[in-house]
Amino acid sequence: MGNFLKLARAAFGRTPFHLVFFVTSRCNARCKYCFYWNQIAAKDKPEELSLQEVERVAANLPNLGYLTLTGGETSMRQDVVEVAEAFYKKSGIRIASYHTNGFLKDKIIADVSAILDRCPELAVDVCVSVDAVGEKHDRLKGVPGAFDKAISTIESLKRLHARNGRLGIFTVSVFCASNRSDDILEAHRYLADMGVRNGISLIRNASKEEGEFDVDMNEYLRLFEELERIRPKGDNAADYPLFSFRDAIESFKGQLIAETASRRRQLVPCVAGLRSIVLGEDGTLYPCELLQKRYGNVRDCGYDPMALVNSEKGRAIRRGIVNKECYCTWEILIALSTLYCPRVYPRVVGHRLRQVFMNWDERR
Ligand code: SF4
Repeated sequence: MGNFLKLARAAFGRTPFHLVFFVTSRCNARCKYCFYWNQIAAKDKPEELSLQEVERVAANLPNLGYLTLTGGETSMRQDVVEVAEAFYKKSGIRIASYHTNGFLKDKIIADVSAILDRCPELAVDVCVSVDAVGEKHDRLKGVPGAFDKAISTIESLKRLHARNGRLGIFTVSVFCASNRSDDILEAHRYLADMGVRNGISLIRNASKEEGEFDVDMNEYLRLFEELERIRPKGDNAADYPLFSFRDAIESFKGQLIAETASRRRQLVPCVAGLRSIVLGEDGTLYPCELLQKRYGNVRDCGYDPMALVNSEKGRAIRRGIVNKECYCTWEILIALSTLYCPRVYPRVVGHRLRQVFMNWDERR
């Protein structure tokens, strides 16, 4: 109950509820569809925020609920445990997600175990990228053996989950021109047999290889609905307050994403820029991962993100978002924005009830 109240307070406070932190731009994969490839390929990388700098940022965001750790490859940041701990202790986060390609099993397991130990009230979702099965996945990642490594990491995470219910395991497959329904369905069935939940992520238009964005949204929606029907054997999700409502939103969001793409506008008011903000590894603060706009750099304002968010420039950026001057299909923000949009709740609940009825009907 305490964590539920803490999350509810964070969700409806006056400062961001969610922070995406690109902990590093170093990566040991070379994915065809990567939207962060410019930073990853750069030879002269900017200086990453040090742990001391991260602690100062965390102290200035005292009401966060949810932290997304990503990159680059999250596990390539040596002090990622201390980074998570800083946000737990200074910002009060109660949910963190750790995004990984699953290559560095020992480091990932050590990181996640230590985060769970040092942050006793934190739920940790580890999201492993699994696009397809076997060599197809290896080709998409640009690394031989990538699939076997990811699966081995998932097996180890499952053993950890059996000992600690605050750990959740998810996988994600990118839907792009060179990874379509058949390959993703094969991966999804494979993962369902392992008892792991899998979702799809729609290619971003900033991807590395031209043409990857050329996808059919009707196929995307059919795939999303098909994946919803194939449930994993068992459940490796974290046991935590609010997760069942989050699940309902997650299973509804495919419809919103497909509708948003076809109608080319925000269908739920986007909460990026205030409820959710994005911090780059070098301290650059963005309203979201997609909008080509920057608030500034936390190094220039005493490591206080809110000073940038509330600046004249920050307010102008947010006005543009509120006025729906942009739209996108970024899954995390579509789901989070739905949470802040009660008029959509009847559709979310209706969708969930339809699913429950269909599952019950299939089992008869
Ligand atoms: S609609 Fe998309 S691009 Fe626009 S602010 Fe929201 S998340 Fe960013």
